[in-house]
Amino acid sequence: MTAGPTQVRENVMQARALPFPNPDIDPAFFDFYKETCGMLSKALHTDHEAFILGGEGILGLEAACASLTEPGDRVLVIDNGIFGKEFADFVKIYEGIPVLYTVDYHRPVDPDALKRYLEKDHSFKYATVVHCDTPSGVLNDVETISRILDSYGIMTVADSVAGMFGEPLDLSKSRIDILCGGSQKALSCPPGLTMVWVSERAFRSMERRKTPVRSFYASIPAIKNYYRDQWFPYTMPASDIRGLRQALDNFFADPDVYQRHARIAGAVRKAVRESGLKLYLEEGMSNTVTVICVPDGITDKEILRGMAEKYGILISGCFDVLAGKVVRIGHMGESCNREDVADTLEALQKVLEEKRILLKCDMKQSFLSAWKENAGE
Ligand SMILES: *Cc1c(COP(=O)(O)O)cnc(C)c1O
Repeated sequence: MTAGPTQVRENVMQARALPFPNPDIDPAFFDFYKETCGMLSKALHTDHEAFILGGEGILGLEAACASLTEPGDRVLVIDNGIFGKEFADFVKIYEGIPVLYTVDYHRPVDPDALKRYLEKDHSFKYATVVHCDTPSGVLNDVETISRILDSYGIMTVADSVAGMFGEPLDLSKSRIDILCGGSQKALSCPPGLTMVWVSERAFRSMERRKTPVRSFYASIPAIKNYYRDQWFPYTMPASDIRGLRQALDNFFADPDVYQRHARIAGAVRKAVRESGLKLYLEEGMSNTVTVICVPDGITDKEILRGMAEKYGILISGCFDVLAGKVVRIGHMGESCNREDVADTLEALQKVLEEKRILLKCDMKQSFLSAWKENAGE
């Protein structure tokens, strides 16, 4: 029940065990890969071409920055969370100039405030923004933000690794140029794959570069013509992609994905609030993860260890500026089900009570009744 990797369904594990075509030379593999990428585009309502890259979610973030950044390019790094801020590192590695737009970590980016900022300074090649910034669980309105950036001619790179497939995202309503996703969050595959969706405008910008992309493995232009050329820049992890394909089939077969996330997340938040525990965010919580402040009288490590050792349930702690301050319950993808979430809240309560931290309600019961009432927010 962590903020990722999530639980993996049996049929995804089985798909990864099947025989696979040779990914370097068998035309059947190129067709299979292309079809799977087509499903990714469809899932996010877009004509942007999607690619699956052989590396964990971080590879997509780096590939976006590597492929767009030339030395001296100014890049607006929208920072209301830890992943948001860390985009600056990728920009720097590729010798761009990151300009941080830092705002309160307890709430989503306010589009009007961003507009006011851009009125004064908008000479940026692109901007980076995170959809669900997992350490705090904040959900930014990346569709609106990308349209505002576009009105100033700024391209958008958006990290939705922990948002997509749990929070609705419609690329056709956005002006996102490169969207980054990962296999191990709400899509519920094992870790190992990153997905990127790339706009025509982003491809044109890459073609107009004066300097070559300073990476091979993280280069989007290097993979762009894989189908025409029947050639990948490196051997594709064929079994991982078979698993991803099965997970996509599962996603398309389930019409209630987004409602389920909203219903479970709403009920978790209600239970946490009724218990007297404090949510880290003031507003704008993602339906994929709930972030709870560590109460006085116990440490994050004691909570995590108690839950794992006594109840066999893993939840996440946090890192960077939130290290030790919060614990996180992931309820995304396969982990987003009533039984597992109820057991997690029950275990959390027991671990707290063993340390004499008494709550104002029975969190499991409170969750289940909120779930029954279909209480969203
Ligand atoms: C999980 C995640 C990534 C991928 O990073 P890892 O920490 O290596 O799993 C990127 N962005 C966000 C917002 C994530 O939640």
